[in-house]
Amino acid sequence: MRNGHSKSFILGIIISIFFSMTCMSIPVFAKDAPNGIWTDYAATDFAGGSGTAEDPWQIETAEQLAKLAVDVNSGIVDKTHAKEYFVLTADLDLSAHRWIPIGYGDSNDSFHAFSSYFNGNNKTITGLYVDETQEGVSAGLFGNFSGYELKNIIISDAYVKASCKDRNAAGVLIGNASQGYGMSISVSDCKVSGTVENTKALSGGLVGYNSYGTYKDCVVDVEVIGGGKSGGFIGEDFNGIYQNCIVKGNVRGSWSVGGFAGVLFFESGVDKCASYGKVTASDWNVGGFAGYVESDVEIKNSVAFGDVESIVTDFEPKVGGFAGTNDGSTITKSHSSGKITSSSKTYSPGGFVGNPNSNGIFIDNSFDVEKNPNLKAMGGSDSTDLTGVQTSTTKDVLSNICEDYYGEHDWNDTMSVDKEATCKESGEKSFHCRRCDVTSGTQIIDPKGHHLQLVEEKPATCTEDGFEEYWKCEDCGLMYSDSNMINSISEPIVIKATGHKFGNWQIVREATEKQEGEQKRVCEVCKYEEIEKISKVVPSPGQEEYKILDGADSSWTQDAHKGLVIRGNGEFSKFKFVKVDGIIVDIKNYTVSEGSTVVTLKEDYLNTLAAGKHTFEIVWTDGLASTTFTVVKDNNNLVQVTGNKNESITVKQDNKNSIITKTGDTTNYVLYSILLMISFVGLVVIVKKIEMI
Ligand SMILES: [Zn+2]
Ligand SMILES: [Zn+2]
Ligand SMILES: [Zn+2]
Repeated sequence: MRNGHSKSFILGIIISIFFSMTCMSIPVFAKDAPNGIWTDYAATDFAGGSGTAEDPWQIETAEQLAKLAVDVNSGIVDKTHAKEYFVLTADLDLSAHRWIPIGYGDSNDSFHAFSSYFNGNNKTITGLYVDETQEGVSAGLFGNFSGYELKNIIISDAYVKASCKDRNAAGVLIGNASQGYGMSISVSDCKVSGTVENTKALSGGLVGYNSYGTYKDCVVDVEVIGGGKSGGFIGEDFNGIYQNCIVKGNVRGSWSVGGFAGVLFFESGVDKCASYGKVTASDWNVGGFAGYVESDVEIKNSVAFGDVESIVTDFEPKVGGFAGTNDGSTITKSHSSGKITSSSKTYSPGGFVGNPNSNGIFIDNSFDVEKNPNLKAMGGSDSTDLTGVQTSTTKDVLSNICEDYYGEHDWNDTMSVDKEATCKESGEKSFHCRRCDVTSGTQIIDPKGHHLQLVEEKPATCTEDGFEEYWKCEDCGLMYSDSNMINSISEPIVIKATGHKFGNWQIVREATEKQEGEQKRVCEVCKYEEIEKISKVVPSPGQEEYKILDGADSSWTQDAHKGLVIRGNGEFSKFKFVKVDGIIVDIKNYTVSEGSTVVTLKEDYLNTLAAGKHTFEIVWTDGLASTTFTVVKDNNNLVQVTGNKNESITVKQDNKNSIITKTGDTTNYVLYSILLMISFVGLVVIVKKIEMI
């Protein structure tokens, strides 16, 4: 274990055992092995060509490709096609047999390597099945590659299985790319997909190990399941160059694991590369882009889009959004936009770099703090901010990626409305970036103006308010009392309810002393009926309360030279006046005295009255008593009769006899007899009244 990986040997073994037990014992993507190996079916000749740059060997069948493997792997000088040119002229299906890598053999001995030019010509190779778990050698379409060029190779849905010992490595295109002396390695415009499973170290989606090679414009969509030094593009690099390469597959490994590279070592250069897959690791030095970056490596304008997860619990995982460790290298304008999680309770992941002892340089990088609200740029037991790494929102990270990785924003063809114009206020529109949503070329949207609609007058009714006609904007709801929008109103102008126009009350039922009555009136406009109770009839006071005590129904004879005395039972203090024949009598025409109330009509007054019967009332403040008296003309010298107690007679009548008792001085028997005849009943009443006093 290099690169400062100094943990105990025992721990490494434990982890290896753990990993092989948990992850490797049941290969997730294992396929049924095909029968036989392709080298047993190799063609004897290529389809054509002479192996020069102008006239490359043409390969149009799987058997012809197998011939290339047989020839290279023979190791026989002049047969290995060193520095010769090949071109693929047809799509190949390799599913019939297990593929034996071109450039076969252990890295330490019996080493054979492809050292020529192969143009895949954008033909597609399918059905690639490699299994070198028994031999432990490098595995891939090419096992060992020491020069010169691989380009335009498309491998779809490959399956590469390995158990690489020593420096052997596994990748879909190349296991081990180690530049030969005086040679160069160039890999460009290759596109591979599939799965790489390696129970040991050095696994990459495209290439397991590289030294000094240059890789450009490759797209790798490979699920990498490896041990140490596993990467979505390359397991371990030494002094390589990577430009415009994209990795889409997930990566699972143990130590030094990265979405793009497990290890980048010694003056390697990475420019505008991106990894999208998720990285999961069971050991330390783990990064969304690279696990371990060491010794003057320069990474710039690159991105780790994927999430990163460390399942380490009992030691420092050194897990970061972009890199696990940056040891003496420079990372510039590169960004991590995934979510970083760690099982460790002691050590925090870094939003950008995991190892707190990273002594490399960071310039204008960023990580997504919105997805990682608790993280700082650099992880460790005390995670810290880091100069050269912005703590950014998701949108800002994406915007940084547009500028630094894509080099430009990806503008929508049409403008988007950022702020709707209203009736009165202008809005805004702009071009948005499809990726990061930043805006450009903002333009003003003119106000829309109101769209007035007439709301017709609503007349008031008897009970409900109406309103005057007005104009309302159907967009913003503003109201105007006029169509010229001069008078703005907050609400319609109210027309007050008119109230009912009632006719006269009509009695529905008369009130009595025992029952309320009812009356109604009807609105002439809306026919509303108002109904009202009529109170019970209350008997008027005074009529029964007061009565005449003396002088009731008496007669007064003209020229009798005395007044007429009539006494009522009302309190003297409540006395108001006297009425004769319904007319109030002037006080000068009578006297009134206490007892209860004694009224004496004066003679002069009585003389003014006509002969005959007159009504008489004594009126108190709270009632009255009434009776009559009769004025008798004195033409026949009739004896006067008064109601005065002292001058009246008492007539008693028992069952058989009438007994007349004289009580006054001026009594006359004849008169008594007459009176007895004409006023018998009345006299009895008088007598009774007298007795009551
Ligand atoms: Zn953008
Ligand atoms: Zn409006
Ligand atoms: Zn009405």
